[in-house]
Amino acid sequence: MHPELTTTQPRRRRWVTGVVLAGMALPVAACTSPPATGAAVVKVPDVLPAGAHVVHPSSPTQTNGSCTDPTASFPPPAVMPPPGHMPPGSFMAQIYARGYLMAGVDQNTYGWAFRNPNTGQPEGFDIDMLRQVSQAIFGSPDHIRYTIVPNADRVQAVQHNQVDIVAETMTINCAREQSIDFSTVYYQAGQQILVPSSSTITGPLDLGHKRVCAIDGSTSLDNLVGPKVAPHVVTWAVESETDCLVMLEQGQVDAISTDNAILQGLRAQDPNTKIVGDTFTQEPYGMAISKAHPEFTAFVNGVLANERADGAWAMIYARWLGAAPNGQVPTPPAATYRAAS
Ligand code: GLU
Repeated sequence: MHPELTTTQPRRRRWVTGVVLAGMALPVAACTSPPATGAAVVKVPDVLPAGAHVVHPSSPTQTNGSCTDPTASFPPPAVMPPPGHMPPGSFMAQIYARGYLMAGVDQNTYGWAFRNPNTGQPEGFDIDMLRQVSQAIFGSPDHIRYTIVPNADRVQAVQHNQVDIVAETMTINCAREQSIDFSTVYYQAGQQILVPSSSTITGPLDLGHKRVCAIDGSTSLDNLVGPKVAPHVVTWAVESETDCLVMLEQGQVDAISTDNAILQGLRAQDPNTKIVGDTFTQEPYGMAISKAHPEFTAFVNGVLANERADGAWAMIYARWLGAAPNGQVPTPPAATYRAAS
């Protein structure tokens, strides 16, 4: 079965696809070459990506009084059911009967979830996390239908059962945990800054009065306010990472600030950029699942526990993020489980 791609928002899908193609062809600015003698010079209009707008984020507030550690998730089942034998009445049994997992993903985060231009299929670390879940339910990693979900719609897509699960460089935090459940942490990211290679910006304290791009509906925007960042950042919000990269290349922003995991992909897409400063936040990634299906969250945690133990996580890390020269990859983030209630 071949994975299929749909979207929660048809208008956005067309637009996002265009952005991906632009991203694949990067670096945009570096591709220009002098015109041949006598050739007409076409001036490319300095157009902003659709939907780009200035926002005024406020410092993140944790609104869930009972939330002390949002990364603590449900313990896995004592014994994982074998593929094809999901417990009767469970959400996994419903997914099995349907024949495919409905997964919400991004399609333009290089290394995490992006379309392979040769096959048109989604690939990356997040995609492989989902393929492991498919393997555990169906005995095959390919029983997935993907829906492209903009960052700002991730929580809603899970809450409204548009998808069974979202794997989309999504930070676990108390605000989101009010509305949805998360798996245990499968990657520990942190926010950093990407600038043109020639930039004199060295870290978040240099961003005062600078134009900085981040993604709508991301923690990255809110993190640009607070004691670790210079005041008076001019924050531009767009729908996708590659839009930020195009704005950086066109000189419309001075920096991009989001998770280091994402910036490394943008840096690979445009070598005329550099990542500066230390990480100034903690962004633990989890897969998002509806609160209506705690047994599915526990099952996914069992899948992750097996991946940590059998080396699958390390192989996925090495495939998408690269091993050190000695072949070593970091140890996966440890799971934290909630006490049984
Ligand atoms: N990890 C951040 C979040 O969940 C940023 C994700 C992104 O920009 O794709 O909001």
